Amino acid sequence: MGEIIRLKCKCGYDTKDLLVGCGMIGPNYIYVLSHCKKCKNIKVINDMKPPPHICKKCKEYLSIIDLPDDVGYEVLSIPCPKCEEHTLEFKEMGLWD
Ligand SMILES: [Zn+2]
Ligand SMILES: [Zn+2]
Repeated sequence: MGEIIRLKCKCGYDTKDLLVGCGMIGPNYIYVLSHCKKCKNIKVINDMKPPPHICKKCKEYLSIIDLPDDVGYEVLSIPCPKCEEHTLEFKEMGLWD
């Protein structure tokens, strides 16, 4: 089961709905959040692929973002990729299978 999450910042940065975790599509996919410092963007990648994880756009190394186990309304430990303030809000939008 996977989760639909969304990251939003007061500067206007908004990831829209992101699907993370793994669904019924099988064990070959575990979607995790990653951060590209160069593109200043957070995106979902498949963590079952062997590392290193590289941004398709800019070929920069991506850093994996660890999500808290208990998904709630926390502020993430990472700064907003756009304004670099620690004001990124994390919301669970629902579940996907
Ligand atoms: Zn990039
Ligand atoms: Zn921001």
